[in-house]
Amino acid sequence: MIHNPPDAEGIVQLENLWVLPGIRHGFATRCGHLEDVVPTPIARLKQIHGANVLILPEEPADRSEFFETSTNLLPHADGLITNCPEITIAVAVADCLPVLIADPVAGVIAAVHAGWRGLSTGVIENAIGLMASAFGTKPTDCVVGIGPSIGPCCYEVGPEVLAAFNNQGYDAEAPVPFAKSERPHCNLGSVASAITQKLGVRQPNIANAGVCTKCNSDWLWSYRRDGDNAGRMLCGISLTHQ
Ligand SMILES: [Zn+2]
Repeated sequence: MIHNPPDAEGIVQLENLWVLPGIRHGFATRCGHLEDVVPTPIARLKQIHGANVLILPEEPADRSEFFETSTNLLPHADGLITNCPEITIAVAVADCLPVLIADPVAGVIAAVHAGWRGLSTGVIENAIGLMASAFGTKPTDCVVGIGPSIGPCCYEVGPEVLAAFNNQGYDAEAPVPFAKSERPHCNLGSVASAITQKLGVRQPNIANAGVCTKCNSDWLWSYRRDGDNAGRMLCGISLTHQ
């Protein structure tokens, strides 16, 4: 596990992304503000638990819909990619996995919202695939950060969730001693890591915060714990001039 505990600003940062020159990133907690550690503006999506990934338009005039203040008016997708500097791309989460991807060689980044549905229908494959086709990304150059999400300790699931991953050859079930009850539990973080490695990302380039949103009520939001009262934590990444 490689992660820094939340600093004074309430932002989790992963060491593998943090050390990259020209990349800034953060996973905001309920105590922090993403804009304290990344440039603004922050481009967003209306997340729909799907696998569609978009490229942020290069022309500033074509981007306005990504900055809507009403979530419902944002473009509907679960991953966003850009090679434009000084602009942050972000996803909002409260239990689902936030996955930030940087290709420092091609100079392109991605922010992905991955719940079990998006993860099992290819949202990470689509993000890295689009980075490759549009910007020439090689998976071996990618650095991947997986932020706080509901952990294998608390993510009790029905058989359809585990089946969706088992059918693709991924063992998604958390070991019984680790889970908090005898019902099946899913380890989304380890599946996301397995998917990125299968795509060709090197294991040492993948970091998982390994922090459970449901277990840490004092500083993280959890939809399963807080229901409709749960806020959302913004997780983003940007390229900077340097
Ligand atoms: Zn937990």
